[in-house]
Amino acid sequence: MQAKCKVCKDKGVNTPATVMLSTYRLNLCKEHFISWVEKRTEETIKKFKMFGKKQKLLVAVSGGKDSLNLWYILNKLGYDADGFYIDLGIEGYSNKSKIFAQNMAERIDKKLIIIDMNKEISDIISLSKKTKKPVCSVCGTVKRYYFNKTAKDNGYDILVTGHNLDDEVAVLFGNTINWKVDYLRRQHPVLPAKKGFVKKVKPFCRISEKESAMYSFYSKIDYIKMECPKSIGASSIKNKQIISRIEEDILAFKVRFYLDFLTNMHPLLQNEINYEEEPLECSVCGEPSFNNVCSVCSLKEKL
Ligand code: AMP
Ligand code: ZN
Ligand code: ZN
Repeated sequence: MQAKCKVCKDKGVNTPATVMLSTYRLNLCKEHFISWVEKRTEETIKKFKMFGKKQKLLVAVSGGKDSLNLWYILNKLGYDADGFYIDLGIEGYSNKSKIFAQNMAERIDKKLIIIDMNKEISDIISLSKKTKKPVCSVCGTVKRYYFNKTAKDNGYDILVTGHNLDDEVAVLFGNTINWKVDYLRRQHPVLPAKKGFVKKVKPFCRISEKESAMYSFYSKIDYIKMECPKSIGASSIKNKQIISRIEEDILAFKVRFYLDFLTNMHPLLQNEINYEEEPLECSVCGEPSFNNVCSVCSLKEKL
């Protein structure tokens, strides 16, 4: 027998379900799946007190499905959200992903700020070679710096990223099996503003990778399908594969592992002595830094 949409059924209508959310034992039609994702995103924003309708948001958009979906949904929900894209200069990848970000900006009629790493410093691959640091580490440093600086310089209150449930679970899992207590303490969908840093939030933290992919499909949001060629073999990808195997045996493992961590464990870690130091100002660029020279300026110095 064909499964029926739960929401339609409650309204006395018999519509075949096109999406089966086994985690929540919920079958939905296309229309009610779309509203389920949007409602869940809005609930996450409210549950974690992320932002309100009067605040100016800057969404970091990579051209991948999560950040594009999120930007589209925030706009649909009536939030004031512009986009920000960093062109990392990765051949065969960056030029393609940029087009998807630009297409979305046009579709929702919002501003997209673009920063070109080639003009700022150098493309990410040369930067990695010249500084003898792994590409992913250089990329992370550059993104963190420009996310924060661009939001501040352009008067945005909050920086929004598209990290999804699978991203957050993979990081949580990695930090747990290695007992990185300091990282666990800071793992939260909201990082409050502090000296030199804008507030950062992850409203898609309760939406899984699969749910996000289905949302793009049903909302006709086109995105870059290929993974970043430089991320292949990264530990986060290996962890995602292990977690998928656990999820096959333990129903709703991902969502429980992550949300129960936030409810039961994260608060306990906040009671521990807080080791976090106050940031200084980078002596070169003035951005917040825990050393005399910030990590981006020291990359520049090594060139
Ligand atoms: P990733 O680190 O690639 O898993 O991406 C995590 C989040 O960072 C994405 O959902 C985006 O919000 C943001 N992001 C990643 N790459 C870029 C980029 N090149 N430009 C702007 N935002 C990005
Ligand atoms: Zn329905
Ligand atoms: Zn600096």
